[in-house]
Order: sequence, then C-alpha cells, then structure tokens
Amino acid sequence: MTAISEIAARQEVAGLELRGITKAFGQVEVLHGIDLSVRGGEFVVFVGPSGCGKSTLLRLIAGLEEVTDGDILISGHDVTDDDPSVRGIAMVFQSYALYPHMSVAQNMGFGLKMAHRPKEEVARKVNAAADVLQLTPLLDRRPGQLSGGQRQRVAIGRAIVRDPQVFLFDEPLSNLDAELRVEMRMEIARLHRELGNTMIYVTHDQTEAMTLADKIVVLRDGRVEQTGTPAQLYDDPGNVFVAGFIGSPK
Ligand code: ADP
Ligand code: MG
Repeated sequence: MTAISEIAARQEVAGLELRGITKAFGQVEVLHGIDLSVRGGEFVVFVGPSGCGKSTLLRLIAGLEEVTDGDILISGHDVTDDDPSVRGIAMVFQSYALYPHMSVAQNMGFGLKMAHRPKEEVARKVNAAADVLQLTPLLDRRPGQLSGGQRQRVAIGRAIVRDPQVFLFDEPLSNLDAELRVEMRMEIARLHRELGNTMIYVTHDQTEAMTLADKIVVLRDGRVEQTGTPAQLYDDPGNVFVAGFIGSPK
C-alpha cells in the first residue's frame, strides 16, 4: 500500500457546483451571482486582480463565511447551510496558519484529534502524509524551526491528513522565494496526480495558473469574466483584461 492510499480510500471523487453565489458585507455586494461547475478531480485555478473576491469565494466554499444568496453543492449535495467541519473541505492559506507551540506532527494531526479520531489512526495518517511530503525527519520540530517552504509543506500535510473531498488553496506559494515556488508548484501538481482530489487554487502567478490548471476562471469585480482551459484562454482571450492575466498577446 502506498502512503497516499493509506490516507485516501475513497472510490468516488466529489465535484463542486456553485449556483448564483452572491456575497455582501453589510451594504456592499462583493460577489454578484457566481455560477461554476467543477468536475470531480478537476484542478481549477482562480485568477483576477486583488480585491475581486477570490478569497471570499474560497471562504464561502469552505463555509468560513455565509453566502448572502445562492447554493453550494458538493457531490450533488447542497452544503450551503452545513458547518465547515462536515463539508469535506480543507483549505491551505498563504500565511500557513500553523500553531507555533505544537510540533509538526501535532499540527498535522490536530484536525483529526479534534474530530475525536483514534490515536493510532491520527498517527498513521500523519506519518503517511509526512512521508509523501518529505517531512518525516521534521515531525518533532516546531514551526519556528522550519523554513518557509517546510512550513507550507506542513500546512499542506495538515490538509491531506483530513482526506478532504475538495482542497482549496489561497495563494499558498506567494510568501516563498522564486526557486522554492517552482519546487512547491511541482509538488502540488504531483499531489494532485496522486491524490486525484478536486482542487481549487487561487494565484497571482501566471505560470502557476498555466501549468497547474485543467480550467482557469478569470474573476473581475465579483463576476466570472471568462472560463476555459489554459490553452483556450491563451489562444482566445475574450478581451484585453483576460489577455493581461493569462499573458497572451491579444
Ligand atoms: P481577493 O482575494 O480577490 O483579493 P477578497 O475576497 O479578499 O479579494 O475581497 C473582495 C472584496 O471584499 C474586497 O473589496 C474586500 O475589501 C471585501 N471584503 C473581504 N472580506 C471582507 C470582510 N470581512 N468585511 C468587509 N469587506 C470584506
Ligand atoms: Mg485574496
């Protein structure tokens, strides 16, 4: 049994559907009716200028914010009103959000421990994820004793051990230097191939978008501007705005 299959035992990969997602903070509407279908196992990348609503959309999918209007379906089930803990979603943040006083192993196992999973199961899954992410020698360290890239690996490991249906990444590599970004990008591509989960990934980096995505969603001012494969958007950007984000010559 490979380390990955130790964690991910599911047969079917969940897809995701957004129907008319609207979000207002007070009087200010920041998302204006987002519709999107994501196939099970698809790698979808959101791009768009700062403030266009990318993080808000991820937070709504994760259940960290409530939608103002619209529905969120995972595997065909309406989860719009469900608690974050039962949606089967794990989110990896730009800031890593690790607990400084806990070891790497404790950080990675924390979610399962909170879900009252048996100790042996927590240990087995943490060890498997550490193996996959080359973190085994670091399991007893604290986050403060790790490099930025290692911290982000721990944050990804913490998501993996929960065996989520859907992974959400919010600019996970933007705090890393250029060389490490390339390495981690390849790592994430490999994880996607091996885990086969549905992944939604926000980035500012054109290379990340073009190399990771099955499908790119360009957001602008709280709306979907254009959706397509990297090649479609590169060859046929709908307008100068999309061309600017994808780096195509239009
Ligand atoms: P992005 O991730 O694309 O940079 P965000 O989703 O963070 O954009 O923000 C979208 C818009 O929503 C911005 O105008 C931002 O100021 C606003 N916003 C985000 N979170 C809140 C909040 N908790 N309260 C009020 N406004 C918010
Ligand atoms: Mg953001």
